[in-house]
Amino acid sequence: MSEGAAKKEEKPRKFQAIRGTRDLLPPETALWNRVEQTAHQVFATFGFGEIRPPIFEATELFARSVGSETDIVSKEMYTFVDRSEKLEPQPVIGSMDVFLQRVKQLYKSGEIPHDEIGLELVEKQWKKVDDLLKGASSIESGAIEIYELIMLFEALRLGGDVSLRPEATASVCRAYIEHGMQSLPAPVKLYYMGPMFRRERPQKGRYRQFYQIGAEVLGGSDAPAIDAEVIEMVVLFFDRLELQGVQLDINSIGHSADNCRRGYVEKLKAALDKVKDKLGPDSQRRIETNPLRVLDSKLESEQAIIATLPRIADHLCEDCAAHYAAVKHQLEMRGVIYRENWRLVRGLDYYMRTTFEITAQGLGSQNAVCGGGRYDGLVELLGGPPTKGIGFAIGEDRLILSLQESGKAPAMQGRDVYIAWMGERAHATAIRAAKDLRKAGFSVELPPVEQKFGKALGQADKLGAKHALILGDNEVFEGLWTLKTLADGSQAKFTEADLLEYLRKSESLSS
Ligand code: ATP
Ligand code: MG
Repeated sequence: MSEGAAKKEEKPRKFQAIRGTRDLLPPETALWNRVEQTAHQVFATFGFGEIRPPIFEATELFARSVGSETDIVSKEMYTFVDRSEKLEPQPVIGSMDVFLQRVKQLYKSGEIPHDEIGLELVEKQWKKVDDLLKGASSIESGAIEIYELIMLFEALRLGGDVSLRPEATASVCRAYIEHGMQSLPAPVKLYYMGPMFRRERPQKGRYRQFYQIGAEVLGGSDAPAIDAEVIEMVVLFFDRLELQGVQLDINSIGHSADNCRRGYVEKLKAALDKVKDKLGPDSQRRIETNPLRVLDSKLESEQAIIATLPRIADHLCEDCAAHYAAVKHQLEMRGVIYRENWRLVRGLDYYMRTTFEITAQGLGSQNAVCGGGRYDGLVELLGGPPTKGIGFAIGEDRLILSLQESGKAPAMQGRDVYIAWMGERAHATAIRAAKDLRKAGFSVELPPVEQKFGKALGQADKLGAKHALILGDNEVFEGLWTLKTLADGSQAKFTEADLLEYLRKSESLSS
């Protein structure tokens, strides 16, 4: 290796955030905080309490609730095997027998999902290696056999499957059951906010780690007023944030798989089979796996065909039709403006009856900022009692993007006061002044080392400070401090007590 190449090699690796993830930085994070604060406030006025479920759960929870046929579960989840704590961290060759014995025990007791084939392969290979080692004079002669053993061992399942959550409704329902919340006064109203993970193709408004703010109403009745109030709450939240171009679409997708929905899906499938040749490969596949999802297609070439397909509204059973009519009436009573969209189906399997989606401006094709709907039966599917449920999830990243596009983002928050100090005695006074100003709620920058006044003022300007407080020996000696207002360059002298008073007043004038 040449010297140059060796040097190149030494260069430390440069790390970057993983594809589809990103850093949220100031000043943007101030907007995130404002959005989240508003959610806490608005949701509390509707009687919702916050739940913070874990970020990862048993894979099976998502497979069962979201549905193993969905894109989310079949290809977008971040799944890994969490090695059982009941196993030694890593066996050495000498303790292999004991280790494999222990694995077998855990398979038998059901603490680890079975991997009989994997175990058999490891055992066979281990026997080969063991025989080799007994007869061999040096370990090198068995290198290939040992390598193979390591590979087989690596592939052996030593724990349960867990996944980073792709959404949070399943977790909320799991928690509802686990904590026996059905004994609380119904309905139980919960909201959450936090990161979700899906391995999708990253693009504007679509990330692999993204954030959702969501809420769920569990238990009690399925009165249409509940559906309408949940929707009213999201709309009010968006209104409070002054989100622009808000458009609410609603639909009813009928009643579970064996009722009106089944009849409709059969008709839809028959109609789709007839036009199959004219559809793209994605839609063709969906005719078999999830025909409802074809309605969701955004492909330009498919729009005219989809317009001719049977509509679910014409196939709802009496109960579902009455429920849907009542939800619309309830929305009208609340002054919530909606548009009916017969093609609106949700991507997750557990939805029924009311579904809704909200779009906003400035987002291009990823313009859905909120999706929601009713999911009676999900809690039961997860092993709980029969329970009514409805909820929504807001895409916080997209919500923020839309607010930024329409100029609703706050500007960089500058410091209120930059303290320009010179001299030892002034430093002590400056530290005290900073403490008092911060206590009063002002944002203060106190330079750690002495700066010439000219440089200090330049720095204050760069940081967007409103004021510079000038503290030199003279000021300290006289007990009169100089405050410079950077916007107009004006200057005035204050005693310590007057200064606080003055800043408070100028603050309330400017806000
Ligand atoms: P889309 O059709 O846009 O993929 P979806 O049907 O997958 O949305 P849901 O699972 O209902 O969405 O999630 C609710 C909201 O979460 C969406 O409306 C969207 O705002 C947001 N969202 C979903 N996936 C992502 C993602 N990968 N990146 C950013 N936001 C997302
Ligand atoms: Mg999606």
